[in-house]
Amino acid sequence: MKTNENKMRRGLLTLILLICAFLTPGSSLEGVASSACFASSTSSTSFTSFTSSTSPVRAEAYRIEVAFSPAEGKLQAKVSLDLRAVEPMRAMELELARSLEIHSVETMEGQKLRFERSRLALSPKLLVDLDKPAAAGDKITLVFRYGGKIRGGLLDFVRSDGILLRDDARWYPAVDLAAFTQLETRITVPAGWEAVSSGNLVSREEHGKQVTFVWQAGSAVSSRSVAAGPYREQRLRQGAITYAIHLPGQHAERSSWLLGRARRILEFYAARFAPYPHASFSLLEAPIESHGAAGYAAAGFSAISPEGVEFDGAALYSPEFLPHELAHQWFPNEVTLAGAEDGWLAEGLAQYAALLYLRETDPPQAKLLVERSHLGALAVDPLRPISAGLKLFSTDGASIADATLYQRGLLVFTTLETVIGRSRVEQALREYYARYRGRAASIADFEKICEEVSHRELKWFFDYYIRGTGIPTISLDVLANSPPGEFQATIRIADVPENFSVRVDLPLVTSTEKIDHSVATIGSATPFTITYSGTRPTIDLDPELKILRWTDAARVNRAVSKRMGRADDLLQEGKAANAQAELEKAAQLDPENVSGSLGWVFLRLGRIGLRQGRISAARNFLRRAGKTSSSDPLADAGVGLWSQISIAQLEERLGRKTAARRIFRSLRGTMPAFLLRSRLDFEGPSGPTAGEVIAVGLGKLAIQPVRH
Ligand SMILES: [Zn+2]
Repeated sequence: MKTNENKMRRGLLTLILLICAFLTPGSSLEGVASSACFASSTSSTSFTSFTSSTSPVRAEAYRIEVAFSPAEGKLQAKVSLDLRAVEPMRAMELELARSLEIHSVETMEGQKLRFERSRLALSPKLLVDLDKPAAAGDKITLVFRYGGKIRGGLLDFVRSDGILLRDDARWYPAVDLAAFTQLETRITVPAGWEAVSSGNLVSREEHGKQVTFVWQAGSAVSSRSVAAGPYREQRLRQGAITYAIHLPGQHAERSSWLLGRARRILEFYAARFAPYPHASFSLLEAPIESHGAAGYAAAGFSAISPEGVEFDGAALYSPEFLPHELAHQWFPNEVTLAGAEDGWLAEGLAQYAALLYLRETDPPQAKLLVERSHLGALAVDPLRPISAGLKLFSTDGASIADATLYQRGLLVFTTLETVIGRSRVEQALREYYARYRGRAASIADFEKICEEVSHRELKWFFDYYIRGTGIPTISLDVLANSPPGEFQATIRIADVPENFSVRVDLPLVTSTEKIDHSVATIGSATPFTITYSGTRPTIDLDPELKILRWTDAARVNRAVSKRMGRADDLLQEGKAANAQAELEKAAQLDPENVSGSLGWVFLRLGRIGLRQGRISAARNFLRRAGKTSSSDPLADAGVGLWSQISIAQLEERLGRKTAARRIFRSLRGTMPAFLLRSRLDFEGPSGPTAGEVIAVGLGKLAIQPVRH
């Protein structure tokens, strides 16, 4: 459903608009899409048949020996897997990537067992004949020897610049990719490399041109992912936890910064949720070939893309990215998901955790995160239920999954704060973690805990916001002739069930005082009175957008986004005149720029004019784009950069080389480096970056930009 994705995309900055830069669905054999921000345990979704309680066998411990030949993209592995029969069995089904060749499957005693690959050519399924019956409760140890290449995607690779193998790659035999098991991993890589897995590094042995790292998990872990690369390592021991940062040489200077960041973020969550669950944490750079910040979280380590390493902490650069990634160490890596439909408790919850961190450390960015989420979440038409969960990635595409699970998912948490109270939401999360740590849990389990801690019935809330697609409209009816000193009004809430109840902030400002007032609503109409002194007050309704609700900005943004999406589609079909008409209508819909999208509209109009050689119209639109400001400094910077670039290109067209070079030079000197990596994605995915266009303009690159 690519068209839909285009329709909701408002800007160009894939790298910033999406917290985890999403990628196209990977080569997953089950057809489950991969997003770049994936906690290991979300992979259980592709294994629903194994996570169900009817699974006849349970994995208990892995001893993995794996040797990598990065230059050839190959691995050789020996895996001892301890399993426990849940019911009597004679054969069992596992999965292992089909591209790997199995040399043997044996018992602990060395008896060779017969095995059979699925008859479906791409299926990873593997049937092992146990040769004799096993009774319920029996322990079964299987030893697998296999090797070959992983048919990886963007997130799973064995390359000469680095290795990342997630559980989803099925690089080891598994009955449940998110099972909690004991784990020992012996990883052999070329000398000069470092290898990381879950647990503690217990030994490091060099032998000739190779080095072997042995990692041992202190408690059962929910992933068996590995990463390796030509890293420089920096370590810090703080209390009981060892923090390690693994970066390639060219980013080694970022180690101290990231070490400090990781420690502060993990300590914040430790204080809020529960102690960090492992004795060590590793943050490493993986050469994920994505535009922008992308991350993957396994138990005890997080892998992030080069851009994430380079720009974390830079002004305007996605401040929620790293906090989101690190929150996955608790959710869902320690409390895994019962099913794909529970994805909110991975991605929505990690966004909420990041918001908690930003509220404390960077309130303006916390506010921006909420505002952006508010617009992005409600731009989707039609809205999808959050309970569609991780399936949204494959059914609706990454940008709709982002808007639904991450953005709307975040706002459902802030709305829940207005229902049961902020401290109770945190209490519920602590209880959820304490009760389900080391197990899988569902949204229904979390719902039950919320009811327990608040002593409230909350089915209506989860029905409305999670299982349904309800969004209320909240307005204020002010009584015109209230007595002096009294402010009388009624809060009206449309499109909600009878028992809908939220607490609405209603700060009141008079000439002499500011009153922080709030009202708990019941149903669709709640009258209230506030007494005040001084002049007739002004009142604001939910100014911090705590409640997920329709606002004028969200409505207008949805309409404008739709027009922009349609224009982008038309442009791709070569129908520039129709695209222009759509964009002009979009601009008329939002003369005040309440959507914050008007700059993007003018930029598009300017680019179309530029392409068509309508110089004065193009200049006019590009100037307006540059002057249109919104409440989002990042969006404004992006529009500003590309409108300036376009004006320079326009000068080039007119033969005014000096003027063009002057603009290019000033942009190169003043724009944040990460913005120079941005592309105009509405002009196609393979267009040049801002930096490339500028380099060509300054004669630093021999090639001409693709489009001009
Ligand atoms: Zn995530």
